[in-house]
Amino acid sequence: MHFPRLKIAVSDCLRGTECRYNGGHAQDDFVNHHLAKYADFYPFCPEAAVIGTPRETIRLVEEQQGVRVKGHKSATDYTEGLKAYGDKMVPKLLGMHLDAAVVKSKSPSCGIERIKVYQPNGEWHGSKDPMTSGLFTGQLREQAPYLAIEDEGRLQDAWLRENFMLHAFTSARWRELLEATPSLADFQIFHRDHKYLFMSKSEVIYREMGPLVANTRADNLEDQLQAYQEKMFELLAHRSTKGQVRNVLDHVYGYFKEQISADEKDHYQQTVQEFIQGVIPLIAVIKVLEQFLNHYGSDYLSTQVFFHPYPADLALRSEVSAFR
Ligand code: SF4
Repeated sequence: MHFPRLKIAVSDCLRGTECRYNGGHAQDDFVNHHLAKYADFYPFCPEAAVIGTPRETIRLVEEQQGVRVKGHKSATDYTEGLKAYGDKMVPKLLGMHLDAAVVKSKSPSCGIERIKVYQPNGEWHGSKDPMTSGLFTGQLREQAPYLAIEDEGRLQDAWLRENFMLHAFTSARWRELLEATPSLADFQIFHRDHKYLFMSKSEVIYREMGPLVANTRADNLEDQLQAYQEKMFELLAHRSTKGQVRNVLDHVYGYFKEQISADEKDHYQQTVQEFIQGVIPLIAVIKVLEQFLNHYGSDYLSTQVFFHPYPADLALRSEVSAFR
């Protein structure tokens, strides 16, 4: 099974670089011990580049002219320097054709969400006051709304991690397809092989993608690839639910229904029920279907990415909590 090597932008402190305000790092095991096996990293650290290390802590402050980034102690306004860094660095990163980004949580530069915006007098009034993303990650999301972005804290959640990996590896497969200047046949194969993966994310959007492929000819291939890409990224932003995954499992089961024994039917039904109840992980149901596939065969199913969307040793599908 071929898996493309991912291209991932990452907050440098998560890699263990000592670039935090106090000269420390925020080394993250998932990034460095799991993701690193399958990804090339493109690091960034806005604050070290603009303010230096060590440095005073900074925070977001709501002022008349908008949200500013200010030194906690000195009240120095670092906004313009940090913005200029993002204006330069974000296009540079995107020029590498990234598949995803992992950012540091709770940082006024790199945080993805829930970063406090303080009052001009330095107070924060709890949930009444606004929260936003960090300045750099805000710039990145604005220019690349299609990109899979998570922070290391959210990636502790098996469901978010599963969806992040599906998004990142599918983006990478699409990137590889485009890099190879695909023919119409290559495009059709990509769509065919992703059928069940896409259905597990959004059957409605998947159904809208079909006509884009069906109406493609050699003379409109480029336009159709572009339109398909937009739909695909819209779809990838959806997170799979247990119900959607069950729908896909039942579709796959449907291929074997006429051939398998009553005992095998019972075994499948019981296994899928236990998956829905959160007793066993998805991988257990997939193994049952793979047994049917090995025994009875199906050329169509054997190439479905749904069965192997990312390297198995990431083991996300072994976690009961990877689906909600
Ligand atoms: S959170 Fe961002 S700005 Fe802060 S040290 Fe890490 S990479 Fe640098």
